[in-house]
Amino acid sequence: MTPEELASITKVISSRIGELTSILETETEDTKPIEPDVSIGRLSRLDSMQMQQMALEQKRRQEAELQKLADALKRIDDGSYGTCMMCRQPIATARLNAQPDAILCIHCAP
Ligand SMILES: [Zn+2]
Repeated sequence: MTPEELASITKVISSRIGELTSILETETEDTKPIEPDVSIGRLSRLDSMQMQQMALEQKRRQEAELQKLADALKRIDDGSYGTCMMCRQPIATARLNAQPDAILCIHCAP
């Protein structure tokens, strides 16, 4: 991976981190605890709870992605980015462009 490729992928990761951070900051409304007597239009309490479950699930996925991207930035810093964790071979640049937080090469990925 060339320094230029690394610089461009760093930009992609940073902007995705910014995106996820602002999503996670603004989406607190859906994930706060439901009041016992909540009634939002025709939605029952059960519907509200299901929506909250979905919102929480999405939040968990976004937090997990954020964590993986933050780890990827750390690997860029310490120079281990783009190296497969299993076989220690370089991960193809095309693969990293498609999935910047990839830690395994195409041969080792499940
Ligand atoms: Zn590998």
